[in-house]
Amino acid sequence: MDINALVKGFERFRKTSFQKYEDKFQDLVKQGQRPRVLFIACADSRVDPGLITDAGPGELFIMRNVGNMVEPFAADNEFHATAAGIEYAVSVLNVSNIIVCGHSHCGAISGMYKIPHGKNLVHVRKWIELAKEAKTYVAHNAPSDISHEERLELTEKMSVLFQLNHLLTYPEVKRRVDAGQLQLRGWYFSIETGEIEYYDHHERGFVRMGR
Ligand SMILES: [Zn+2]
Repeated sequence: MDINALVKGFERFRKTSFQKYEDKFQDLVKQGQRPRVLFIACADSRVDPGLITDAGPGELFIMRNVGNMVEPFAADNEFHATAAGIEYAVSVLNVSNIIVCGHSHCGAISGMYKIPHGKNLVHVRKWIELAKEAKTYVAHNAPSDISHEERLELTEKMSVLFQLNHLLTYPEVKRRVDAGQLQLRGWYFSIETGEIEYYDHHERGFVRMGR
């Protein structure tokens, strides 16, 4: 898809979707946004939060980054993009749910096992350390005879759970979760099947959503 295609797409949006949502947009400007969900997803172009949830404008506050990671809370004065989004969604927008959505064929997770050589990926190397607990967990707990693909899927799913743990290091997230005002959810989107699985605390595993 080149730039001309994007411009054509914008023209279609102006003629169709914008008209469909025009009243909604006006309301969202007058009333302000009131999303109930913070959705943390991978920057991967195949994972489109609005598409897979059929959510319209104003419904999802979306943070996307490489590997749908959550950096643990740090009481310093550095730049923290995901942390800033979490803080705003929780303390200002008062979202009642945070979803961390992992996915199949995640380059961030496969990069933990084999990072492309000869590329200047200094920030990627550092960032994907946020999933190293998942890799360590899989190394210690998964059967040794599983395939590399199974190992990657397990790491992708475990990483979602560790990112949820990272969310709990944010004092305001923890306080609201403990008070029953905020729920944390782990999802996993399979690109090839279009299925979503969610982490079920009773089953202690990922369960297919819907149907
Ligand atoms: Zn990814």
